[in-house]
Amino acid sequence: MKEIEKDLGFCYKHPDIPASAECRECGAPICKSCTIHGPEGKGDFCSTTCRDSFYEYQQWLSENAPNPFEHRFSLWAWIKHLSTLFILLAIIWGALYVMTGELTPTAQFRSIFDLIRALF
Ligand SMILES: [Zn+2]
Ligand SMILES: [Zn+2]
Repeated sequence: MKEIEKDLGFCYKHPDIPASAECRECGAPICKSCTIHGPEGKGDFCSTTCRDSFYEYQQWLSENAPNPFEHRFSLWAWIKHLSTLFILLAIIWGALYVMTGELTPTAQFRSIFDLIRALF
């Protein structure tokens, strides 16, 4: 694919030399002799400062970008928490059933309430 030639004007350091590229970081027009390439010859930069800040940002992005698995992971954690809660409720219900002999939680609580009232 042929890149569309843009009118970049003149190099910001050499006003008499037409710019051949644009700094990827600050957008300054740069000529061939001013262009600094990033790692593996990728990207055009006007200075090492721009190159470094661009790649620092890329590094930061790759480290801080949301992980596509994170959502699934948090969903799994949520399911795990929920199932733990259900198991806990089942244990409580089982214990109340053994204690009161009632099946429904309302009846269980009523009989527990009666038990506590009988104690005082
Ligand atoms: Zn720059
Ligand atoms: Zn230049």
